[in-house]
Amino acid sequence: MHIDRRAFLKYCLGSAAALGFPLSVVSRLEEAYAAGGTGLPQVVWLNGANCTGCTVSLANLISAQKPTDIADLLLNTIDLAFHPNLMGAAGDLAVQSLQTATQGDFVLVVDGGIPMAFDGHTCIVWSENGREITAKEAVLDLAAQSMATVCVGTCASFGGIPAGNPNPTQIVSVGQLTGQRTINIPGCPPHPDWIVWTIATLLAGVNPSLDERNRPVQLFTEETIHKRCPRKESGETKLFGQSRCLKALGCKGPRTSADCGQRKWNNGTNWCIGANAVCLGCTEYGFPDAFSPFYKVEYSYQNYSKPTPEPPGAEPTPSPTPAVGLRISKAEYNRERRELRVEGVGPAGAIVKILDDGTRVLLGAVSVDREGKWRSITRDPRPVPTRARAECNGRATTAVVIRK
Ligand code: SF4
Ligand code: SF4
Repeated sequence: MHIDRRAFLKYCLGSAAALGFPLSVVSRLEEAYAAGGTGLPQVVWLNGANCTGCTVSLANLISAQKPTDIADLLLNTIDLAFHPNLMGAAGDLAVQSLQTATQGDFVLVVDGGIPMAFDGHTCIVWSENGREITAKEAVLDLAAQSMATVCVGTCASFGGIPAGNPNPTQIVSVGQLTGQRTINIPGCPPHPDWIVWTIATLLAGVNPSLDERNRPVQLFTEETIHKRCPRKESGETKLFGQSRCLKALGCKGPRTSADCGQRKWNNGTNWCIGANAVCLGCTEYGFPDAFSPFYKVEYSYQNYSKPTPEPPGAEPTPSPTPAVGLRISKAEYNRERRELRVEGVGPAGAIVKILDDGTRVLLGAVSVDREGKWRSITRDPRPVPTRARAECNGRATTAVVIRK
């Protein structure tokens, strides 16, 4: 099915309320629609170090309604001159189309972080006369010429998962690389509506207002996930699978701004908390390291007893194993590897939480194996604890951390 630029504009106008376009954008899109969709800038989309999840998220956008073919839509409607995953052309032809597009007005879209190690050679975006062009070089060059640079996803916006500790390829965000103000659409991945909203707004010649992290205020920062969460008044649960507030299990909704709960994902089907998973804070600066551990262990299944009575004749529920014999046999910090290793023994099957004994910050949680042994490895704990603490079934033990 061929979808032209006019069809895309029609789609944007038809979906204006759902997407939440400001009136100024709607009227500009209407003008462009009346003019046959001509005269809008082209879009050049580059991939940095990424998992392609942002493109997959976008490709998921219009599957349930017309226009249905996202590749056709992008190539023929928003004048997507270059996209490594979605465009039909390949090799020199693809590079040529990029070079032609960048002669005129264009919006640069980047997804993925930018590796700096090895002078950027861990991420090659194309070759030109036998010379490898790195994401670092391409983004620096094109961002300087573009009308606007849009970062799609948390990696391009803030570094994201590829920049997480230990970051061996020294990933930085596009803003850090260029020193310029980017328009950030974070999310791991971002919602397809957020991407379309932002690109359509820019194509309409309107600059969205941005917050201190350069995210469009209208999409991200009007309210936190928590403030609008339908589970807010439901009381906290310590067990997954219950339709109650997940704060005690590690939900980062109170620290996260996005409209996931209202917009929902997969064409309005559901969202993380609706599916009984915690919000991980994927739209926020510092994700994932500053939001780890994602889950809090507050409850051991050693203590689980079925809420309904056993049917007659069933085996009696075994009584929980008491937390006897919890001991730390080793607590060592390896300076070279920046690794804290704590191990010991405990009741088989129980969960052991490892904490910094001074700050009581949770460093990890492991289950005790059948032989009664457990081991936890924490990479780059900050600060390195002086004493490690192990807790299990209401009991605790501590040990001095030996530095090697
Ligand atoms: S589930 Fe998360 S976002 Fe919802 S009320 Fe609880 S803490 Fe807030
Ligand atoms: S609910 Fe939280 S983790 Fe899930 S997509 Fe939204 S911001 Fe990301």
